[in-house]
Amino acid sequence: MAATDLERFCNEEKRNLSLGGHVGFDSLPDQLVSKSVTQGFSFNILCVGETGIGKSTLMNTLFNTTFETEEASHYENAVRLRPRTYDLQESNVHLKLTIVDAVGFGDQINKDESYRPVVDYIDTQFENYLQEELKIRRSLFNYHDTRIHVCLYFITPTGHSLKSLDLVTMKKLDSKVNIIPIIAKADTISKSELHKFKIKIMSELVSNGVQIYQFPTDDEAVAEINSVMNAHLPFAVVGSTEEVKVGNKLVRARQYPWGVVQVENESHCDFVKLREMLIRVNMEDLREQTHTRHYELYRRCKLEEMGFKDTDPDSQPFSLQETYETKRKEFLGELQKKEEEMRQMFVNKVKETESELKEKERELHEKFEHLKRIHQEEKRKVEEKRRELEEEMNAFNKRKLAVETLQSQSLQATSQQPLKKDKDKKNFFSLPSACSITSGRHVN
Ligand code: GDP
Repeated sequence: MAATDLERFCNEEKRNLSLGGHVGFDSLPDQLVSKSVTQGFSFNILCVGETGIGKSTLMNTLFNTTFETEEASHYENAVRLRPRTYDLQESNVHLKLTIVDAVGFGDQINKDESYRPVVDYIDTQFENYLQEELKIRRSLFNYHDTRIHVCLYFITPTGHSLKSLDLVTMKKLDSKVNIIPIIAKADTISKSELHKFKIKIMSELVSNGVQIYQFPTDDEAVAEINSVMNAHLPFAVVGSTEEVKVGNKLVRARQYPWGVVQVENESHCDFVKLREMLIRVNMEDLREQTHTRHYELYRRCKLEEMGFKDTDPDSQPFSLQETYETKRKEFLGELQKKEEEMRQMFVNKVKETESELKEKERELHEKFEHLKRIHQEEKRKVEEKRRELEEEMNAFNKRKLAVETLQSQSLQATSQQPLKKDKDKKNFFSLPSACSITSGRHVN
């Protein structure tokens, strides 16, 4: 349908017609109720407050059961979110209840970043829902919605004022979740102090611009009770699963040597008010506010971040197709740029490696040439030595030959002239030296 046809259709005057008899569409609310009951409901509560402030006890007291809990230590390095889901049934209504505990909140020495895991957890649940919505094949009908519907913020009953951790955390959370502040362990603070404490807390929240959840007053059926209850915020609660006999009735209470604090006694604490507002009157509003206010804000910011808009700068409706095409082109351009950068980087790296390799080759070649020179020099020296040795050997051999020749000649001569030898011997003895010896003995 063209935009102009659509406008004409919407602007058409509506005419009232009376029906001739019962048609049956007055059963639509019943159909709706029946469908919702069959489908069941989910409700997710986030409990934020120091360890030991009474979060688990209050949850057990609120739902009149014992949820699995393990006592948290005071030595957690960081805040960690621990979700636990339970299937509850009352009459024929099924409730999938998730209780998320901010374990370790307020236990670290440096509390600057304590709110961050809580904010991240809430955003992650929104993101999961958004991803499911953006799927082509969505299954929101049986999707387990884990978005946080309410944050019960447990305030320590100091009687003084809010801690800066409380203010910072609530400020960071107020645009993401419905916050209901509650003063925990209200039995530890006197009535007059509690009154002043409540006023102080509210004024601090206002002066710091912290938006807490206001019970809705636009529905006539609950407007009165809700506006009265808004004036009682923050609720001062007491939790206990212990049953104490008061009169002839067993009631949930905390027993002290000086008396009994009854959890469900409105003159003792605001537990009943909290249960009434949270579960019996405004549970659906909390779910609705989560979807229409907090999730909507998250979704809008996220889609705008992704480049989607409802109108273009000239206030003309923005086409999803056009946005998609623009984004696609932007993305492809970016991708091409990245590819080109990577290619260039690769070429540069190859060039660098190539020149490094060439340099290494040159160095190796030089080394080789150097070694070759040393080797040749060595070889030359060895050759020279060998020649010298050969010459020495030749000379030696020659000398040896000469000696041998001389020896053989002398031998030969000795064997041929034995007489001559004797004569020679005589001659020898007649040599002057011999003579001199002889002359000493024989005087001619
Ligand atoms: P969590 O760590 O915040 O979950 O705290 P718990 O629920 O485990 O409670 C810690 C201690 O506080 C337990 O000994 C509880 O009995 C006690 N406690 C819980 N609620 C109250 C309360 O309303 N008043 C008082 N005086 N003590 C409470």
